[in-house]
Amino acid sequence: IHYNAARFLISADKLSQCPDDSGAEVAFAGRSNAGKSSAINALTNNSKLARTSKTPGRTQLINFFDLNIEGLRLVDLPGYGYAKVPIAMKEHWQKHLDQYLQQRASLKGVVLVMDIRHPMKEFDLMMVEWCQSTHVPLHVLLTKADKLKRGPAQSTVLSLRKELTALLGDKVTIQSFSALKRTGIDTLSARLDEWLSQ
Ligand code: GDP
Repeated sequence: IHYNAARFLISADKLSQCPDDSGAEVAFAGRSNAGKSSAINALTNNSKLARTSKTPGRTQLINFFDLNIEGLRLVDLPGYGYAKVPIAMKEHWQKHLDQYLQQRASLKGVVLVMDIRHPMKEFDLMMVEWCQSTHVPLHVLLTKADKLKRGPAQSTVLSLRKELTALLGDKVTIQSFSALKRTGIDTLSARLDEWLSQ
């Protein structure tokens, strides 16, 4: 699968606007500012594909991207915890995000993006619990690894791997990543390949 062939397909404000629920897709989730857009842009080698936090707009929508193989998609879920978003809007997308996660048959896995320095916040725990209850596989991307020295970065990966494996067993995988240094891209794309080619 060529992730650099990803092209913007559609933004959905509700489940009915999502593309046909056939084929296979992988969704990226994360708290605002975790580095989700940068991770998607690094994976796809396209600095403009996912909008970063600095340019809100598409942020409250579920964004779909086509890949080079028909029926395969990447999905950018709304970033959670954006302080400036009104409560009503938060509730709106929370409801639709919930529906998306519960009902989407083509969803093969969730990539949860966390800042390696601030992992496992409230939203992250919610996503982990959701994966636990639905058995959708989870890949945790500990990004901004360039902000830590090698030792502390590796020990964060190891301790979180232990913690998450206790909850999710072999449904969870975890890695460090840096969009800035472009490290961890091969590991990420290998995991996505597994999910999307099942
Ligand atoms: P999003 O809200 O989760 O989509 O986060 P963004 O991708 O917009 O990133 C939030 C901030 O973190 C931006 O200022 C990015 O430049 C920065 N950032 C993202 N990824 C990395 C990374 O791998 N390393 C470093 N040092 N900064 C990063």
